[in-house]
Amino acid sequence: AGETETHSFEAEVSRLLHLMVHAVYSNKDIFLRELISNAADACEKLRHEALTNSDLIKDDPDFKITLSSDGEAGTLTVCDNGIGMSKAELIDNLGTIAKSGTRAFLDQLANNSNGDDGSALIGQFGIGFYSAFMVADKVEVVSRRAGDSEAWSWVSDGHGSYELSPAADEDALPRGTKIVMYLKDEEKSFADAVSIRRIVRDYSSHVPVPIQLMQMDEESGQLEAEDLTDGSALWTKSKSDITQEQYKDFYQYSSGQFDEPALTIHYRAEGRTEYSVLAFLPETKPFDLFDPNRKGRIKLYVRRVFITDDADILPAYLRFVRGIVDSEDIPLNISREMLQDNPILTAISKGVTNRILSELEKMAQKDEEKFTSLWEAFGAVIKEGLYEDPERRDQLFKLVRFNTTKGENRTLAQYVEDMKENQTSIYYALGDSKEAILASPQLEGYQAREVEVLLLADSVDAFWVQTALGFDGKSFKSVSQGGTDLDAIEKPKAEEETDDKSDEDKAKEQGSLAELITFVKETLGEDVSDVRISNRLATSPVCIVAPDFGPDRQFEKLMRGQKG
Ligand code: ADP
Ligand code: MG
Repeated sequence: AGETETHSFEAEVSRLLHLMVHAVYSNKDIFLRELISNAADACEKLRHEALTNSDLIKDDPDFKITLSSDGEAGTLTVCDNGIGMSKAELIDNLGTIAKSGTRAFLDQLANNSNGDDGSALIGQFGIGFYSAFMVADKVEVVSRRAGDSEAWSWVSDGHGSYELSPAADEDALPRGTKIVMYLKDEEKSFADAVSIRRIVRDYSSHVPVPIQLMQMDEESGQLEAEDLTDGSALWTKSKSDITQEQYKDFYQYSSGQFDEPALTIHYRAEGRTEYSVLAFLPETKPFDLFDPNRKGRIKLYVRRVFITDDADILPAYLRFVRGIVDSEDIPLNISREMLQDNPILTAISKGVTNRILSELEKMAQKDEEKFTSLWEAFGAVIKEGLYEDPERRDQLFKLVRFNTTKGENRTLAQYVEDMKENQTSIYYALGDSKEAILASPQLEGYQAREVEVLLLADSVDAFWVQTALGFDGKSFKSVSQGGTDLDAIEKPKAEEETDDKSDEDKAKEQGSLAELITFVKETLGEDVSDVRISNRLATSPVCIVAPDFGPDRQFEKLMRGQKG
């Protein structure tokens, strides 16, 4: 055999491994889920690559994941006949932290204050492979990239470095990856068939590659394969054959989320384009919801073959939706570039987007409480659609919920229904928080007339109000945008001031007000464009407003902030 090279882990990997080894994770089971999910990914990658190069799998066309253990030696092995890794890939994938998600995980863990130990974060952040060191004090990886002449062995005890060497002939597989975990003394029970079966059932029953457990048959003295899962795709089954539990497992496996799906959407579209959809709305925010790249997470399959998770099937404002779309019509060996403006994919995108929005609408009607908590998690994201997807704006307006001066979770329809006599616009106020907005003197005149005002505190709000033409024929208007709209709207009778001033007093008052205005104008000079007597205030003496037809003040602030 060739030489053994010693490589150091990237500093951040060492930090992560230290955590894995020393932190007491309450749920160590998930290491197996992570390794199985990597094995399944590797099979799906090769299945995809073999579409254009069938030689890669001709000797062994049936993908599978094989688990085996040796109770005496205290080892547990996960083996796959997937794509495998070259020497360079072993170094890149198992020695560095390429993914920002892992870094985000480390940050999150560092300021983890809610008492949980972070094991729930592992799947979400996809730091999968390294979790093997939670249960093993040594891990050995033997891998051969499909089609390569050489296989490589990677060994580490998780302390600072790993060793790479050409794999010994007796260890080298025809293709794929074998991972052997030398279990820590206190974790030896993970070699028991009973616990392996349980973990696979709990976490991996919907992996799209069959999983087998190899076991020595005491009587015959032969190794026998026991099928743990059949690798069939859940979405191909009919709804009535699937339990809620199975949907949940699939959601958690495929999304790396640990919550329950708030909504499960499973259907098959037939007609001009045929495809299946299994989509989930999470209950809680995924950690990368506000990542600048705003990537969606719908996986595209073509006739059960995984193609890409990069196809942008849903618009960015629905990026929190998880799941798969499986097309019957897209050509299997389509290239990534061709996929971008493939008319079939465009039709699918349109269909799935509309379906998800209409399911959301249904949910809003049927289960107000559930919808409200969904809105709290994802409302700020959905609102991006109000300016990015003008075609669906009206559909989105039916979903949007507002905090207003009248209450929480108000719809625009409710707003319009409660409009005052002579009120022609929908008023809003922008600000950093609901509390900050409510403290603004600009609301006073509206409050005094009991005119409802939308309190817009998400940063997207400043954008959509600029472009949305209106709702139900009523335009959106900022409370800070001058105007004398309020003159037309009467104050409620009870609050009207009793007018017992004499005409003489009134004239005097007018005169001194005019003097005051002149004084203020002269003092402020160029800094203001006008100074006016206003109807919008009730208790505060003055406030600053924007011109009727200029940008809103909060929007101006935002733009200035972005430039500076
Ligand atoms: P993730 O799966 O989120 O990418 P992991 O830490 O689980 O992160 O794995 C890191 C990388 O190592 C994978 O992206 C993949 O490239 C590679 N890898 C891990 N296990 C296997 C395997 N069984 N076969 C091929 N490649 C693998
Ligand atoms: Mg992984």
